[in-house]
Amino acid sequence: MFNPSAEAMPLPDLRALQLSRLQATVARLQERVPMYRQKFAEAGLTPDDLTSLDDLRRFPFTRKADLRDTYPFGLFSVPRSDLRRIHASSGTSGKPTVVGYDENDLAVFAEVVARSLYAAGARPGMLFHNAYGYGLFTGGLGTHAGGERLGLGVVPVSGGGTERQVSLIEDLEPEVIACTPSYALVLADALAARGHTPETISLRYAVLGAEPWSETMRREVEARLGVVATNIYGLSEIIGPGVSNEDAAERQGSYLWEDHFYPEVVDPATGEPVPDGEDGVLVLTSMTRTAMPLLRYWTGDITRLLPGGNATGRTMRRMDGIRGRSDDMLILRGVNVYPTQIEAALAHLADLRPHYQLVLSRTGTMDDLLLRIESAHQGAELRGEVVRLVKMMVGVSIACELCEPGSLPRSEGGKLRRVVDLRTAR
Ligand code: ADP
Repeated sequence: MFNPSAEAMPLPDLRALQLSRLQATVARLQERVPMYRQKFAEAGLTPDDLTSLDDLRRFPFTRKADLRDTYPFGLFSVPRSDLRRIHASSGTSGKPTVVGYDENDLAVFAEVVARSLYAAGARPGMLFHNAYGYGLFTGGLGTHAGGERLGLGVVPVSGGGTERQVSLIEDLEPEVIACTPSYALVLADALAARGHTPETISLRYAVLGAEPWSETMRREVEARLGVVATNIYGLSEIIGPGVSNEDAAERQGSYLWEDHFYPEVVDPATGEPVPDGEDGVLVLTSMTRTAMPLLRYWTGDITRLLPGGNATGRTMRRMDGIRGRSDDMLILRGVNVYPTQIEAALAHLADLRPHYQLVLSRTGTMDDLLLRIESAHQGAELRGEVVRLVKMMVGVSIACELCEPGSLPRSEGGKLRRVVDLRTAR
């Protein structure tokens, strides 16, 4: 279901469509949502002030705290009786927040996920093993509806219960799987333990997201499951998974479905937009939602925007892999560090496995970072090499502990927390 009239829209048409959709969204928020009415008034703005895409930067951001302050239904712009579904963020950072969908929103959700799954390689008629968690988390039900919309046969396995997952994969022989990248590695281990090789596993395409992952992990998942693995990105506040997805043949940045979600990347300190290609915080506006559209939502996710890809025919911009959330950023003796940067620095050390944990502690006024990483071999020489590479490529001094394969925590089906902060436990 490649939709050329949307995905390959000439850029001037796309920009014109975005402007008119943004104008409609701002007008809707002004009319129906008291918090926005107040924010616009405080900024001295009315919907008429949005006359070009560039004007958007004058409008206020929406932040997670705004959802908490108006919990549960304060940001909704339809009557409660129009709601057809409620989801909640998984609460990775703080108290959960709820989001709502009306009939239109569910159709948009299914459409963008169908587009994403198609970009990931899925084709109508394939079987789809959906191992994202079902429930309040958007991952399970969101990808489910998109799979049905694309014409896949969806197996609603949900997360966890690894042995059962493996049996279902053996028996039903699905071509497509979706789950978190850390759980894909757990499934790869379990399949290998049952004597499978990539050739005996039916899966061909893996659609992985909901947490940051690296090229090292991609290589590992692809080699061990015998799949092409693409990145799917999204968040409940904007819709859920399916804000963007990589193309299976290209795998260099995820196409952001810009006819529904307007992206900006801003400087985390000043909030000012940075040019495409530069890193900053991703800010998204939902332009086609009706139950709960959000204006300039501060995702906290650090990435950069890339131009559309000529090879795939899509004109929409791509976003690079997420380096981390701005609240995952570790500041170590004045240097900003994201967990994925450390992983990337070690990509070519063949003995290391993509299972690691970062432990932050404090001695006196100094923060210390310990990298615990699984390795096929333990030895002072390799440990020294890890410390040296991280110092050289990330710019911070760390300590390293090489751990036995299988000894560090694994995903239990959902998102994996890699940072253990002992400083707050004092
Ligand atoms: P929560 O904020 O409680 O985790 P969500 O379940 O909506 O709520 O998760 C959305 C967040 O998950 C995103 O803001 C982002 O930090 C992370 N995320 C989702 N997809 C990806 C991805 N492909 N790569 C990296 N991070 C991702």
